[in-house]
Amino acid sequence: MADQSRGHPTLNMNISSMLPRPEQEGGCADWLQQLDITAYDYPYIEPVILQAYRDLCKNVSEIAEGGEVRFFVAHHDGELMISGTEEDESSEDRGDASHVAGIISRCIEVAGPAVIPQGRFVYAAAPIYTRREGEMFAVFGCRLQDAPDYEGTGAKLFIRAVALHFRTCFYKAFEALFIADMLLVQQRAKREEHRRSKLFQVVQKLHDKIDVDSVLSEVFERVSGMYPAAKLELLMSQDDLSRDPRVKLLQLQGPEEQFCVKAFMEGQMLSRKLHGPLGELLLEIAAPLGGKQGVYGVFRLLIRRDLIDEFDLQLIGMLADTAGVAFENAKLYQQSNLLINELRLINELTKRLNQSLKLKEVFRFASDELLSIFQAEYCCISQLHKETGTFEVMSTNVPGLSKRTFPEDYGFCGLVCSTQEPIILSDYQVYGKVSSQMMEVTKARSLIAAPLIVRGEVNGAIMLAHREGRYFSYDNYKLLQVLSSHIGLAIANALLHAEVRRMANRDMLTGLYARHYVDDAIQQFQKKDSNGSLIIVDIDQFKQVNDTYGHQTGDKILQQVCTIVKSSIRKTDIAARWGGEELAIYLPGADAENAYRIAETIRLRAAMDTDPAVTVSCGIAEWAQGDGKVSVESLFYEADMALYKAKNNGRNQTQLG
Ligand code: GH3
Ligand code: MG
Ligand code: MG
Repeated sequence: MADQSRGHPTLNMNISSMLPRPEQEGGCADWLQQLDITAYDYPYIEPVILQAYRDLCKNVSEIAEGGEVRFFVAHHDGELMISGTEEDESSEDRGDASHVAGIISRCIEVAGPAVIPQGRFVYAAAPIYTRREGEMFAVFGCRLQDAPDYEGTGAKLFIRAVALHFRTCFYKAFEALFIADMLLVQQRAKREEHRRSKLFQVVQKLHDKIDVDSVLSEVFERVSGMYPAAKLELLMSQDDLSRDPRVKLLQLQGPEEQFCVKAFMEGQMLSRKLHGPLGELLLEIAAPLGGKQGVYGVFRLLIRRDLIDEFDLQLIGMLADTAGVAFENAKLYQQSNLLINELRLINELTKRLNQSLKLKEVFRFASDELLSIFQAEYCCISQLHKETGTFEVMSTNVPGLSKRTFPEDYGFCGLVCSTQEPIILSDYQVYGKVSSQMMEVTKARSLIAAPLIVRGEVNGAIMLAHREGRYFSYDNYKLLQVLSSHIGLAIANALLHAEVRRMANRDMLTGLYARHYVDDAIQQFQKKDSNGSLIIVDIDQFKQVNDTYGHQTGDKILQQVCTIVKSSIRKTDIAARWGGEELAIYLPGADAENAYRIAETIRLRAAMDTDPAVTVSCGIAEWAQGDGKVSVESLFYEADMALYKAKNNGRNQTQLG
């Protein structure tokens, strides 16, 4: 097809299919001779015919001089293409158009050379045949002056000879054009190859990069290497900003960047013509930087129009695609690294937290770990006591805050617990909506805080602070949320453990310690104390009570006696259900006199405060270092003996062992 933009005509041919095959005999010259046009090419061969016509006119200019001979050429269907030369268009010449048309149609009719004399002229024409198939593809003709000179076969011979010459000129032009086309294709292929090898290098380089910033720098370097005159920038969506100054934020609302926003939204490369400040023609290209999961930004390239062609555009598109995929990979790699890091932290934290099942230690570990993970200056973990409506600071490095209690709606703890949402604060001094003792005391500006959720309920809050403004990142805030749920779990475990321990050591009916606990406890006290006393309390005639009121009432009375016991002793004393309706009370560091007083208090209160009223008898045993009774068994034996004495003595009394 004629393509005028490249300055010379080209044919509509598949050149590569016509290239010489290696096995072809006779070499290139022969192969060139074999080339021909077919009927499919006729619509496109006019420029070649005209070229051949001009060449012929130049060659035979001597013959044509003085207007003796005037040539013309027509399409294979008889339509005139050109007649004479542009200069000799006189009015007289134009008058002979009908004669020219006449000789052309005669020639087509007879399918051979034809001659028609016309006054002082002779019109002659001959068909021009293709060289392989011998099909007529044009009609070449001439008007000769001085008809008598060409009478007979003269004119026919003349037109045959010149038509042959024209055919030679045509094929010469055709071959030259073919070769020019071939060279052009070759040239393009070379350019394309060069670009592809560049692209390949870029792909290799880019896929070696595993961090986002170096992917972007590499792309800048490569593109500016290939197009040094281009102005290049990268507009990125919010969270992908880089340290490179050529990387800017893509303003989705900005009017100047609408073109780039369109490319970003559509994920398609766009280009448009612009005028530069000096009136030069520029091309603006917006190539989206996209991967499989989305578009991350747009490359904006501004370059002089004449420095770039269609291939360059394709190349830039491919480069942007490659960069997009490499960027995405690097981003995913970074994200997975962050995730791995996060998991490592969670793993370490839970490992350390689970080393202890003691609540106090869990709080302390948690605050130490959080301070180091977030590189925070201050940490404060508070526990919510719903029954009192207060927070208690369980662990903190803020001076003066430890063990302090605050109302449950106070400060950031109150806010976090009431909303059950974490908080990130970039500047406390600007915020001003919540007053916080911790922030005031430390003069901190940045804060991240998260609720502590234990078994689905808010149990407290974690706060981390730093004196620098904008210190914590969004990632920090998200990580704290994750870690706080793990800390919540550790607290839940510790609470559960404490509960189980308490239950294991307690008697269910009375709430007093179990027998094994008091045995162990006395043993421990005897190791470090110098003396102590044991009281055994036994309800009098309890069998009868049961028989009279029933077992359930018996249980109630037993509970009443236990309540009396609990409220009659110190926190450090240990009361246990020794068995049945017998209770054991160990009083560390108490002598027999003290023990007697307490036993008597219990005995008197039991008689007054039980309903139905019962009495109790008490037996006391005392031990002191070096008296040979330093064993749990001997102590119980002696107390039992004293109790026996009390029973025998008429009950409702206390006896010393
Ligand atoms: P005393 O001690 O004054 O000699 O007479 P007692 O009737 O209390 O005799 P003993 O101590 O030998 O009997 C204990 C009785 O206490 C037996 C049992 O029926 C009752 N008892 C033991 N444990 C429980 C308990 O947990 N609940 C109830 N309701 N009764 C219990
Ligand atoms: Mg009894
Ligand atoms: Mg008994």
